Amino acid sequence: MKLAVPDWIRPTIAIAGTKTVFPVRRIYAIGRNYADHAAETGLGGQDGPVPGISLKPADSVIADGNDLPYPPATAELDHEIEMVIAIGKGGASIAAERGTEHIFGYAVGFDLIRRDLMRECIAHEHSWDLCKSFDGASPVGAIRPASEIGHPVSGTIALSVNGAPRQRGDISQMIWKPAEIVSRLSRYSRLEPGDIVFTGTPKGPAPVVAGDLIEGRIEGVGQLTIRIV
Ligand code: MN
Repeated sequence: MKLAVPDWIRPTIAIAGTKTVFPVRRIYAIGRNYADHAAETGLGGQDGPVPGISLKPADSVIADGNDLPYPPATAELDHEIEMVIAIGKGGASIAAERGTEHIFGYAVGFDLIRRDLMRECIAHEHSWDLCKSFDGASPVGAIRPASEIGHPVSGTIALSVNGAPRQRGDISQMIWKPAEIVSRLSRYSRLEPGDIVFTGTPKGPAPVVAGDLIEGRIEGVGQLTIRIV
């Protein structure tokens, strides 16, 4: 097949301890999935009939250890540390009891947000895709396969900036557990191998500036370090 424009390089995520990589298809992000963060937004948890789910561009993933140029058109770039689910097996209308069967593995991710754009978009009733869609918006560390670590249900999730603690919680605080997230997402569109899901952040997202070193870790899952430049 002849391509009319140059092909892109398929985004991938490293798989810890191997030379194999995970090809990224779609990136979903679940909102307000920790009660303490839901409370600080002033909006509460997700009790309504429609879930708060956003999409990010697949090619916004960047790997552990990379520099991230401060994105354009923003004055407030916030960090959110989140456990990332990597989907290994596709499916639609998946029952929650079978959700984990579709999960290939887990990683540490930063859901980076242009918070000032988010507020402006909400105020004007625009879609707020722009706040989550920019180059480098989705740093993700190496994936640990579930075949190796199982399906984590508890463990510290923590983020620091320049060595100072900013966010700290436990993945057991997640309102929708990974299997339920898989089930809920798959009711709206078929999940496919290569899809990844950011599963929400605990209390404490805050702005970063050029020069900041963002370090995150999830007990039993891994770590992730990015510098804003
Ligand atoms: Mn988030």
